[in-house]
Amino acid sequence: MGKFYLTTPIYYVNASPHIGHAYTNIISDCLGRFKRIKGDEVFFLTGTDEHGEKIKKAALADNTDVLDFVNNVSDNFKNLWEKLNISYDCFIRTTDSAHKEAVKQVIIKLNENGDIYKAKYSAFYCMPCESFWTDTQTKDANGKCPLCSREVEKVEEENYFFKLSKYEDWLKQYLKDNPDCVRPKTRYNEVNGFLDNNKLADLCISRPKARVSWGVEFPLDCEYVVYVWFDALLNYLSGIGFGVDQEKVDKWWPADVHLMAKDILRHHAIFWPIMVHALGLAPGKIVFAHGWWKIGDEKISKSLGNIVNPLDVIKEIGVDALRYFLLREIPLGADGNYSSEAIITRINSDLANDVGNLVYRTLNMAEKYFQGDVSCDDCLLPVEFKQSLQALSVRYINLMDDLSFSKALELIFSFIGVMNKYIEDTKPWALHKENNLSRLKVFLCELLEGIRIVSLYLYPFMPQTSEAINKQLGIDLIFSLDNIQWRAKAGFSTKKGKPLFPRIDVS
Ligand SMILES: [Zn+2]
Repeated sequence: MGKFYLTTPIYYVNASPHIGHAYTNIISDCLGRFKRIKGDEVFFLTGTDEHGEKIKKAALADNTDVLDFVNNVSDNFKNLWEKLNISYDCFIRTTDSAHKEAVKQVIIKLNENGDIYKAKYSAFYCMPCESFWTDTQTKDANGKCPLCSREVEKVEEENYFFKLSKYEDWLKQYLKDNPDCVRPKTRYNEVNGFLDNNKLADLCISRPKARVSWGVEFPLDCEYVVYVWFDALLNYLSGIGFGVDQEKVDKWWPADVHLMAKDILRHHAIFWPIMVHALGLAPGKIVFAHGWWKIGDEKISKSLGNIVNPLDVIKEIGVDALRYFLLREIPLGADGNYSSEAIITRINSDLANDVGNLVYRTLNMAEKYFQGDVSCDDCLLPVEFKQSLQALSVRYINLMDDLSFSKALELIFSFIGVMNKYIEDTKPWALHKENNLSRLKVFLCELLEGIRIVSLYLYPFMPQTSEAINKQLGIDLIFSLDNIQWRAKAGFSTKKGKPLFPRIDVS
């Protein structure tokens, strides 16, 4: 049994979750569930990033105590993950005392290694981005923040620095030696391009308490707190017990995949591997940066005011339809267009017409012709299915391991298409008319067995639907790829339910 350590970013709790957050966690959940049915032991970490002045200001604007505020928003995330069936193993919060302790230990260790120093610092500061910018950087952005175009303030103060520059050559070599460590390829090239064109500056990792008070106290100097990004990235280590449970760290580290949106690529592909390397550990194996969902040409974001609340969407179309749409519509890494029209098209054509209809009419026949009691001892894999199913089993695993979720779904649905065509070609209603009941029974058994296998393949994408299908098939299927084989001897006592995905009328 292999181990698989999977992380999402921890989400900033200055506002409630939107569809972008949901997307990252749905991808991660799909991957985690796949690894579990494949037999790996999985540790799936998600959580919330709760420090920084931005959060304190948000709490103040909300007229709430900061801790109450972060508790509340963090709960909103947890609640959404529950609604979306996100099967995380640990929900980490940067306000957890164990996390804060790990952050302190890391800084003490880096300091002992000679990687931290104090220096005078003068820069332009953007509060909403919690980022410092140099003279040139702000000048290039017309005196504004290069990231968000807001006003910046000139700041001059003493701070603690982490010697990022010392590891620049190491990072370049590491990237060269590991061409798959940043995915997709466009992001790998972006990181290398950045390193080619910019000299890495040391990272300012403290903030004076006089200016920023909501954070982890800097262990070397109580006048300071730890820079929020430095604090946040360390969740990937504190989440597996860094500083408390070395055995657990040894078991899970390095992370197998760090998933995130592309706007935080640099933090994960530049700062993070260096931080980990400086601690004497190997970097996480893959940093995978996915694209953005856009409405029209605009990124969905709080500042643009075009937020989509996933809870509203679920109420309308159900959890699995949303999960399916997001996983099927675009390949991982690309940007996608989010629209009700696109969602409805997917629901009506793929979910209602293809899989929903297959299950509904098969169970309908099972009940009409055999009162739902369908079994056989020699249910051979029909030639019609054979090729399709053989292609599926190997390619599915490869595609899923490669995080090519959209292609894997395409493959599953091509098999569903074969099954629907098999019904048309066999004309079971004619078999019934001819009273050829033994052939009819074997035929239905073949369909039910095919549906059982489909439900297994679909499980990482739409767990609720897979469970519903199995309930309707009257079997107690354990979701494991061990059960993916075609069975010659199979029995079902079906209980037809409502259609899995009712068509949505477009008026
Ligand atoms: Zn900014």
